[in-house]
Amino acid sequence: MTTNTLVRGRRTELPATYSVAHEENPFDAMAARLDRAAAEIELDPGIYRILRQPERQLTVAIPVRMDSGEIEVFTGHRVVHNTARGPGKGGIRFDTRVSLDEVSALAAWMTWKCAVVDVPFGGAKGGVLCDPFSMSPGELERLTRRYTSAIIDGLGPDSDVPAPDVNTNERVMAWVMDTYSMHVGHSVPAVVTGKPVALGGSLGRREATGRGCMIATREALSARGMSLMRATVAVQGFGNVGSDAALQLSRAGARVVAIGDRTGALYDARGIDVVEAAAWVRRHGTLEGYVKGTSITNDELLTLDVDVLVPAALENVITTKNAARVRAKIICEGANGPTTAAADPILEENGVFVIPDILANAGGVTVSYFEWVQNRAGYAWTETVVNERLEETMVRSFREVHELSRTRQVSMRTAAYMLAMSRVAAVHELRGVYA
Ligand code: NAD
Repeated sequence: MTTNTLVRGRRTELPATYSVAHEENPFDAMAARLDRAAAEIELDPGIYRILRQPERQLTVAIPVRMDSGEIEVFTGHRVVHNTARGPGKGGIRFDTRVSLDEVSALAAWMTWKCAVVDVPFGGAKGGVLCDPFSMSPGELERLTRRYTSAIIDGLGPDSDVPAPDVNTNERVMAWVMDTYSMHVGHSVPAVVTGKPVALGGSLGRREATGRGCMIATREALSARGMSLMRATVAVQGFGNVGSDAALQLSRAGARVVAIGDRTGALYDARGIDVVEAAAWVRRHGTLEGYVKGTSITNDELLTLDVDVLVPAALENVITTKNAARVRAKIICEGANGPTTAAADPILEENGVFVIPDILANAGGVTVSYFEWVQNRAGYAWTETVVNERLEETMVRSFREVHELSRTRQVSMRTAAYMLAMSRVAAVHELRGVYA
């Protein structure tokens, strides 16, 4: 898609602009970027009003009988931001920091992400406020099933399709799929993606977000006349996204000199054995106790003198407090919302090339789309086909965003939002407002 498809209308009246006082509110951070891009594309004010709000926000109480026999009641959310282009799509996270604002921001980011890579989904997200590390597998299963049944009215292959996110995985997706299927009376694999392959999951899905990060990073390096072969990389977060991004980057020839997770970080200028570190995490759950290299803090990791920094943990790790100290030439946002809106201009001024989250980590949702297509067709693709189509999607999307950023003289982030919002707005214009 090129710039000529950008929607043009009357100049949008924007609300009061983003203030640093709200720097760490993820919905404000998302809205600040949306406002900037809306002004750039002169988005129609009515469409702007639609896109500024989630379509549906659901908060549920989830009673769970704990192993002790006591009943605990957890709070869960499912937010559908926009379904103009297709069913809501977005992960479920289990975390102690989950809030309605965070889930709403993540749902909106999903709308933009699906539109950037041009897959026919809208945006959604779910979360349960809990500490999954203190819960047994049985407690987690009961929590997952009760949460699924509490939000079940909105779920379905044509309405809202969850996937894994922070602290959830294939195991949790299998419980979601089974609970939904039991309710409707037959197996519905397409209600959820990121499932185990034996249950209709796609080959290549587990590695897809990390593989997408590697492809986006390779394209960014190439745009700057550099190559993955000699690039140094630091990766924050060593879960689904971070560990696979590190593995893929290292396989492609980069030197991963630092990795970290919630238990701490490691640095080795000669390069970390990422395969060994990933095997350690598979056995022990975290990097704790893996004592190769020098121990550093997570803040030190973020400000290392490397070619590429991959924040792949949580939101708000690059803020006005440390953005000026970031020395990486390229940031590939594996996580959603790792950079605050107030930190954007600081990075821009310092010439840091930021591959924004809605592009950088879109490999996951791209292969989730492939999984949904395979489930609906009842025909599984080979891993080679999945990876080839992911490569094609990521390269095309990167180049479209980069070209727009170049021609309109805006950051990669603003260009990605412009492209995404134009695509969503075009569909709203065509569909009109149902009354
Ligand atoms: P995960 O739970 O598998 O891994 C999270 C990692 O971050 C873990 O290694 C954890 O120890 C680390 N972490 C947590 N708190 C930290 C802290 N304070 N400092 C440093 N490290 C910390 O989660 P994930 O699925 O890899 O998701 C990571 C990010 O990527 C999230 O923002 C998520 O929304 C985003 N994302 C995930 C996918 C996916 O396919 N799973 C797709 C797109 C985007």
